[in-house]
Amino acid sequence: MRPTATKDGLRPTDYEFRRVETSLPSGSAEAKWLACRDVEDFLGGIGRGFKYLLPIRVTDPFDPASPIVVNTGVLTGSEIMTGLRVYFHGYSPLKRTHDNRPLAMWSAGSDKFGVKLRGTGADELVVTGRCDRPSVLVVRHAGDGPAVEIADGADLVGLTTSAKILRLADRYDDAHFAVIGPAGEHFANNYFAGIALSTQNMLRQREPKMRWCGRGGFGAVLGSKNILAIVAQGPDPTWKSAKAIAAVNQEIARGPGSRKFRDPDKADGAGGTWSNYVPLQDVHAVPQYNFRPRDDSPAYMFRENVEQEWPVVDESCFKCGIACWKDLSEPSGEKTADGKPKPGRFLAKVDYEPLNMLGNNCGVNERAPTWKLIAECDELGFDSISCGVVLSYVMEYNERRPGSTLGGGLRYGDADGMVRLMHRIAAGQEPDIGKGTRLLSEKLGDTSFAHQCKGLELPAYLPETNPGYPWAIAGGHMSMRTFLLLLMEGKTDLDYWVAAIVEKGLYTVRDDMDGLCKFSGLGDPKVIEAIRESTGVALEPDELKQAVQRTYLRAYAIERAAGCDERDYVLPEQTYEPNPWVKLPSFVTRDFFAALRDRVNGRFDQLVRDLKLMS
Ligand code: SF4
Repeated sequence: MRPTATKDGLRPTDYEFRRVETSLPSGSAEAKWLACRDVEDFLGGIGRGFKYLLPIRVTDPFDPASPIVVNTGVLTGSEIMTGLRVYFHGYSPLKRTHDNRPLAMWSAGSDKFGVKLRGTGADELVVTGRCDRPSVLVVRHAGDGPAVEIADGADLVGLTTSAKILRLADRYDDAHFAVIGPAGEHFANNYFAGIALSTQNMLRQREPKMRWCGRGGFGAVLGSKNILAIVAQGPDPTWKSAKAIAAVNQEIARGPGSRKFRDPDKADGAGGTWSNYVPLQDVHAVPQYNFRPRDDSPAYMFRENVEQEWPVVDESCFKCGIACWKDLSEPSGEKTADGKPKPGRFLAKVDYEPLNMLGNNCGVNERAPTWKLIAECDELGFDSISCGVVLSYVMEYNERRPGSTLGGGLRYGDADGMVRLMHRIAAGQEPDIGKGTRLLSEKLGDTSFAHQCKGLELPAYLPETNPGYPWAIAGGHMSMRTFLLLLMEGKTDLDYWVAAIVEKGLYTVRDDMDGLCKFSGLGDPKVIEAIRESTGVALEPDELKQAVQRTYLRAYAIERAAGCDERDYVLPEQTYEPNPWVKLPSFVTRDFFAALRDRVNGRFDQLVRDLKLMS
């Protein structure tokens, strides 16, 4: 991005951004500077992504003409801590209407790939077409801007995600990488393949510590273009280290917004997403057995209990002081001064979602098998949420239909069987399971315990605690912030939940525009300050809020235009069967949800009309 004016008090429209349109198989690329026409263009990320996708209708996300849009936010690559986000957008093989039409969405990830993409001079990369053979798309800084080249990727075929990244790192100096795993290579039967991003630490340590653009199946979309990897090779940004920026960074690293994601030795951090286990298990709301909790086994997986036996060390993305990663390693046999095991060989990065979705929610209640499942899922290139949920669906199906099982008769708790099945899915040998929970359950005619909304598998929060799920536009917890409200606020009335979705929840997509990691937890005033210090543009609070609202509503409008109706804004049927083991109010009845849907959709539809977002 660059300013087009040299005055005090720059406006968003005083900036332009550079879009690089690339056609496959040739790799011919056209880089254009485009004026920022509004706050969305200026903020970037999904602000621009959904404006681009709005007029495009796709019937097959694997059609060569279906675009994949890779872009950054205004703060990506800036000096603002956690300004690292890169976004992959397009039409998803997984997110679909009730009558099977693909829907637009995105997936976001951190560490240095986004920074390096920005370093090439490209703010946005639009890729269409298909390569004739397995290929690598290389974007590098050349002359005064980005240049694109298509390189042979034959030697990457079949490699795991970390092996691909490390091989490319040996080939491309000072670069970062977005790769698919074996799952994405077999895209036609792998709708939940994700995209792994290299990290600064994994390149240094040569260990499998990737970040993920996991949700929505964009690894499959990239695979359908025969692109196994994208290389971003550009110079690092130069930073000025202004005092005001240091203050914002201090707030990000040690302020209340990021407290949950830090470790206790970092200004009283709460320990990361893993810490969700304790308060949720207090009320028996940690998902188990395909979202039907029924015993105390999750307590065995509390971090404080695990740490007695297994070394857990926090680590971070590029220049991030929050350090939300929790690296789990084999015990070396030695002890630290406070009696904890010292780390040996690295095994897996443990976050709440992969831990739960591949562990307790599949009835895997042992530690070592859970670490192995997390690591295998990453190496094969799956989204861990979708992968865990489709496997728990298979297990539940087999429990209910012992006479006609699927997935090799997989049963709850069979970690070895899960690994075997994951390998078969990644190899394209399980076409029904590999298409995700929604399509699998519809084919089997047994959708009642399929835990998905609009085809996207639910994250690790019970649907009976979150009636906001159907309005998440890119997966249950990262695009509609209603998932812990019942636990935290305990409200069950309709007015509260309408307001929670319409007036608050949707604003969580702000950081899917500005380039910051959501875990920075900054309030709008600090984001405005960060943008002002980085670009000279002083946004008004309402301007920012309205741009975020318009962006969410554009995504919703695309859903409606594609045919989403009351059959799409639904919860899994099992939501309406109260589970007496769960110690939270049971309030989501069919009548409650029908009333909620009428009011939320009514409000959103009205806003789409008022703001003329479809015209
Ligand atoms: S909070 Fe975590 S995911 Fe976000 S930038 Fe920092 S280390 Fe990366």
